[in-house]
Amino acid sequence: MMHYELHITEQNFVRLQQHAETSFPGEAVALLFGILSENIVSANRVELVENESKTSQIAFSVNPENEYQLLIEAEERGESLVGIYHSHPAPPEPSETDLRNMRLNPVVWLIASKLTGNWTTKAYILKDEIANEILIKYRKSIDSNL
Ligand SMILES: [Zn+2]
Repeated sequence: MMHYELHITEQNFVRLQQHAETSFPGEAVALLFGILSENIVSANRVELVENESKTSQIAFSVNPENEYQLLIEAEERGESLVGIYHSHPAPPEPSETDLRNMRLNPVVWLIASKLTGNWTTKAYILKDEIANEILIKYRKSIDSNL
């Protein structure tokens, strides 16, 4: 398989982590918009969204109208949904539910956990029914290669 990389700015990554911390022990959710170019997934924009799940400690769901609006806005910028972020109360690996949802939404899945005390975030792409971990590259800005 191709070796995919997720590129995200340090600033956006900090926002995701703060969102996870604020939502804890509930699950935090965010949608990542950007551009897929060959094997590089550039998550240029992070939209923190509300977890609408009634059982938000063990699941997450996003308001479909809210998601639709964000998708329309992304399209106007020439971007698309490239990633889905959530935090959950288990190791930073896809649960059975996550795997089902990964089949429905074949984008990069970022999963955050603070089971070990500190937040750990990993990124996955589903390929042939297997969640493959991909590299996350933290950049100073969207345009830089740093
Ligand atoms: Zn999960």
